[in-house]
Amino acid sequence: MGIHGNATCVMNYDGAVGYLLGEEHKGLRTMFIMMNAARLGVAVQGLSQGTVAYQNAVAYCQERLQGRSLTGAKHPDLAADPIIVHPDIRRMLMTVRVFQEGARALAYWAGLQVDITRKHPDPETRRKADDLLGLLTPVMKTYFTDTGFTATNLCLQCFGGHGYIAQWGMEQFVRDARITQIYEGANGIQALDLVGRKLPANKGRAIQFFFTVVGGFCEKYENNAALSPFVKPLTEALERLVTATQWLMRHAISNPDNGGAVSMDYLYMVALVALGYQWAQVARICENQLSNPDDDSFDRRFYQNKLVCAGFFMDKVLPETMTHLARIEAGADSLMRLDAEVF
Ligand SMILES: Cc1cc2nc3c(=O)[nH]c(=O)nc-3n(C[C@H](O)[C@H](O)[C@H](O)COP(=O)(O)OP(=O)(O)OC[C@H]3O[C@@H](n4cnc5c(N)ncnc54)[C@H](O)[C@@H]3O)c2cc1C
Repeated sequence: MGIHGNATCVMNYDGAVGYLLGEEHKGLRTMFIMMNAARLGVAVQGLSQGTVAYQNAVAYCQERLQGRSLTGAKHPDLAADPIIVHPDIRRMLMTVRVFQEGARALAYWAGLQVDITRKHPDPETRRKADDLLGLLTPVMKTYFTDTGFTATNLCLQCFGGHGYIAQWGMEQFVRDARITQIYEGANGIQALDLVGRKLPANKGRAIQFFFTVVGGFCEKYENNAALSPFVKPLTEALERLVTATQWLMRHAISNPDNGGAVSMDYLYMVALVALGYQWAQVARICENQLSNPDDDSFDRRFYQNKLVCAGFFMDKVLPETMTHLARIEAGADSLMRLDAEVF
C-alpha cells in the first residue's frame, strides 16, 4: 500500500539454528528494550508524516483560488480568494497544526524522560521517568500514528481532487502513514498494553505519578487569570481521566471485556490530557515571554500565534475527552451482545 522505498519481505526461519541472546526465560523482556524504542520511533514517524502533509497543504491553501470569504472578499483584485480564508479549510489545517505542534512537544518531553532514565544521579527520579515513559510509549505510538494518518487525510482533503491524484504527492503521504498504525504492534494491542499492563503495574504507580505531574501544574496555576483559558479545561479533562481510571478499576476485573472494550477510548483520554498538558506549558511560556509589553527584542507574533493554537486545542480538541468518558462508562454491553455468526 505504501512505503515502497522500504525493502519489505517475508523471512522464514524454518530449519534455521537459533542462538540464545541474553538470559534464558528473559527473551521477551529483552526484546522489549528494542521494541519500546522502536515504538517511540514509529510514533514520531506518524507525527512526521502529518507534518510534511501539513506543510504541503498550507502552501496549496495559500495559493489555490476558489470561492469568496464568507465575511466579504479578502482579495477583490483576484478572481477568487485563496481557500485558506474558508472556515472549513481552517478547521482542517488548525486540527493538524495543533496535533503536530503539541505532539512534537510531547515527543521532546518523552525524550527528556529517556535522558533522565539513563543519566540522572537519583535512582528515584530515574524510576519515575521510567514509569512515565512506560505509560506514554503505547499512548504516543497509537495517538501519534492514528492522528498522523488522519492528518495526512485532512491535508489531502485540502487539495480537493488534486489531493486524490498522484501528481501532488498527497495520496502517497496517506498510503505511507497507514502502516504506522499497524507495525511494531497494532494500535489495538498498544491500548491493551496500556490498560492491561501499564495501568495496573505496581498498583497503578505510573498513572498516579502522571496525575501528580499534570494535577500539580493545574494547582500551581489555578489562580493565574491569564492562564485560566488553558488551565481550567486541562483540569476538567484530568478530572474526567481520573473518573475513567476509577471506572476501569471497578469494572474491568468483574468483566474483562470491559477493559478491552474501553481500552482505546482510555488511551485517547491519556493522550489528550498529555497533549493538553504540553499546550498549557506552551501557553505558560508564551504568557511569560509576552508579559513585558515594551519588550520587542524578539518575534512577539510567534508567541501570540502559539497562544492562539493552544486556545484552539483547548476549545476544539480537548473536549473529545467528554465523548471518550461517555463511551467508557457505557462499557462492553452493546459492543459484545451480537453473536459472532450474525456479523
Ligand atoms: C510493511 C510491514 C513491515 C513490517 N515489518 C516488520 C519487521 O520488520 N519485523 C517484524 O517482526 N514484523 C514486521 N511486520 C509485521 C507487523 O509487526 C505485524 O503485521 C503487526 O504487529 C500486526 O500483527 P499481525 O499482522 O499478525 O496482525 P494480527 O495479530 O492478526 O491482528 C489483526 C487485528 O486484530 C487485532 N488483535 C489481535 N489480537 C488481539 C487481541 N488479543 N485483542 C484485541 N485485538 C486483537 C489487532 O489489533 C489487529 O487489528 C511488518 C508488517 C508490515 C505490513
